[in-house]
Formats: sequence, C-alpha cells, structure tokens
Amino acid sequence: MRRNNLNRIGKDTLIMPYFENTSFDNHEHVSFFSDPETGLKAIIAIHNTNLGPGLGGCRMWSYASDDEALTDVLRLSRGMTYKAALAGLKLGGGKSVIIGDARTQKTPELFEAMGRFVEKLGGDYIIAEDVGTSVEDMVSVSKHTSAVVGLPTKEGSDHASGDPSPVTAWGVFLGIKASVSHRLKKESLEGVHVAVQGLGSVGMALCGYLHKAGAHLTVADIFEGNVEKAQQLFGADVVSPQEIYGVEADVFAPCALGGVINDETLDRFKVSVIAGAANNQLLEDKHGMMLHQRGILQAPDFVINAGGLINVYYERMNQIDTSRTYTRDDVMKHLDIIDVNLRKIFEISDQKNISTSDAAEDLAESIFLQPSLTQEDDHAAA
Ligand code: NAD
Repeated sequence: MRRNNLNRIGKDTLIMPYFENTSFDNHEHVSFFSDPETGLKAIIAIHNTNLGPGLGGCRMWSYASDDEALTDVLRLSRGMTYKAALAGLKLGGGKSVIIGDARTQKTPELFEAMGRFVEKLGGDYIIAEDVGTSVEDMVSVSKHTSAVVGLPTKEGSDHASGDPSPVTAWGVFLGIKASVSHRLKKESLEGVHVAVQGLGSVGMALCGYLHKAGAHLTVADIFEGNVEKAQQLFGADVVSPQEIYGVEADVFAPCALGGVINDETLDRFKVSVIAGAANNQLLEDKHGMMLHQRGILQAPDFVINAGGLINVYYERMNQIDTSRTYTRDDVMKHLDIIDVNLRKIFEISDQKNISTSDAAEDLAESIFLQPSLTQEDDHAAA
C-alpha cells in the first residue's frame, strides 16, 4: 500500500485520496461492488463517455491490496478511451476488475453477480473478457445484462464475434509494416528480421503473417511447446526469454507482458522499431521519450493493438441493430485505420520532437475532448 497517498482519519483507519490518485485523471464514474453470497468484490471504472459507452475487459487478479486494484482499473479504463478514440469507434473507455484468484475462486454465480452489477450501470459500461476471465465467464455475465461482448460464437447470438486474437495479430502486422516503412523506408517485409516475444494467441498468429510476408523470425516464450511450434512452422530461430531483448534485429515485437520497456531493457535493444501487441509496454511515460532519443521508433500499443476492440465493436453494433450481421471482412477493412494512425503519429513525433506515445495521446485527445462532443451525441453503441 502506498502510504504517501493515504490520509489518516482515525487511530487505525487510512483512506486513499481518490481524486488525487495520479491514475484518477478525471474519471467520470467509479463503482465498487460486493456480493457476500458469491464472494464477488469488483470495481468498474468509466473514464470518459464523450464518444459512447465505456467498453473494456474484466480482469480477475489476486491484487495485493484494494489500492492496487483501483489503480489498475483506473489506468486500464483510461487507456481504453484513447484506444477507442483513435480507432474511430463510438465508444468510451471503461474497464473492470474482480479481486480474486482466477484459478481457485471462479464460479458461474460470481460472474452472474458481476452481470447484475454491470446492468445497474444502465449501459454506460460494456463488459468483455480480459486477463483471468474467459468467453465462458461472459456467458454467465450475459444472464443478467446485455451490455456484454466477446461471447463465444456458438453460445452467443448469431452476431457473436468469437476469438479476437487473429484480428489483433493482423492489426499488429499492419502496424509493423507501417513502422518499417517509416523508419527503414522498406515497403515489404521480405527479409526483415523480427524478434517476437511471446507466442500466445496473438504472437503465434502474428508469426504466421510475418512468415508469409517473408520476414525472418527470432522468437522466445517461457513455454517450450510454443517455441517448438514456431520453429517447425516458420523456421524461427529460438532464444531464451532473457535474450530476446538483445537480439540484433530490425523489429522487436512484444506480445507477452506489459512494462517491457524500462530502465533495465532500454540499453539492450538493438532494433530500429518496437511494435507489438502487449498492453502498457512503457513501464513509465519517460521511457517513451528515452526510446525517441535513442532513435528507436515505437508504435504505441493502444494504437497498434486496437484490432481486438474493433472486433468486439462490430459485435456490439450488430447486437443493437439485429438486421446487421457480423462479418470478419468488415472488421478487417476497419483495421486499415491502424496504418493511417501510425503514419500520422510518426509524422507528429518527428515534427514536434516528442515521443510517439505523447503524439498518440495528443491525437486521441483531439478526438474525444472536442468541445462539440456532448453526452447527447450519438451513442451509437449504447
Ligand atoms: P496469451 O496469454 O495467449 O500469450 C502470451 C504468451 O506470452 C504466452 O505464450 C506466454 O507463455 C508468453 N510469455 C509470458 N511471459 C513471457 C516472457 N517473460 N517471455 C516470453 N514469453 C512470455 O496472450 P495474448 O492474447 O496472445 O496477448 C498477448 C499480449 O497482447 C498481452 O499483453 C495482451 O494484453 C495483449 N493484447 C491482446 C489482445 C487479444 O486480442 N488477445 C488484444 C489487445 C492486446
């Protein structure tokens, strides 16, 4: 618990000054829920709804403290506002966390209770799966609210969108192409060397697209089976999870963890571009500028990994207007916005001599903080 952020109000009582929490950043709404019957303890944060209802995943995690859970949900929901605005979606930013161990404390009843809480917010927050939650959990949630997306194709409505990972991976592939074009002046990935960290749902699909485009791959994962698969399917070179940061390559594609760009890794990178799916790649804002000063071009994560959000947005649109049908073609066409955004962001970063992450945030704010936007504007996804 960060004691410097607390006020002592009684002998043993400490409270955190929520509005002063640096992650609070003018959140519109934060709700705390508890349900003793199912053991549910959850927080829903809605950062901004200028463009539409806040949509974001529900993370289940064994947080060390309520303070840590709150800070996490605030940071994540803020990020969703920026991601949705730049992706051209009529959505705001929201996110939820359930405090608990996803391996031992999950029950269908817990997620049904979560569904009742989401419903209380009257559509201002739309829930989806995230770390520690699954599409099956969202089926339990959907028993009590229709404000849920990312339902499995077979159990959900005809409009369900299924696994977003291949879509996210294609968006990242387009982002790598845009970054290589800007920094290396190459319009093809033929012979471009990409070091991929993490071969999960997104990383493995990305390797497939890169291999097909003629890129040379070096990969790492903590799971032996994944690296063997990448070796067999794509002829990838394999390094250990510790070595992947120092691989001499054109591109480093982080597709595993957040915070991988930090004081410790910065001097190890021997690449011109960092472009991958992982959320919150910069451990701190300052690391964006440090990359910029080292001449490493970073594709901001909330721009390049928007494919998953774009995918569930189309599911949501089709839930509202049942005459429409979800098609992957529509979603894939929308992903071109990732290329357009990144090229714009790289130009702003060059012109203003600011980090690409700052350029991306400025651009997003110019969209969702437009004075003309009001709550009455078309909340198309509500
Ligand atoms: P995943 O859990 O399927 O894959 C993560 C992979 O990283 C696993 O194979 C894991 O073994 C590996 N890994 C973990 N620690 C590692 C380490 N230290 N070194 C190397 N490998 C390690 O997750 P995913 O769905 O593929 O998502 C990857 C990243 O992209 C996550 O940060 C996620 O938040 C982000 N993201 C995913 C989506 C999506 O549609 N799935 C959308 C947006 C952002």
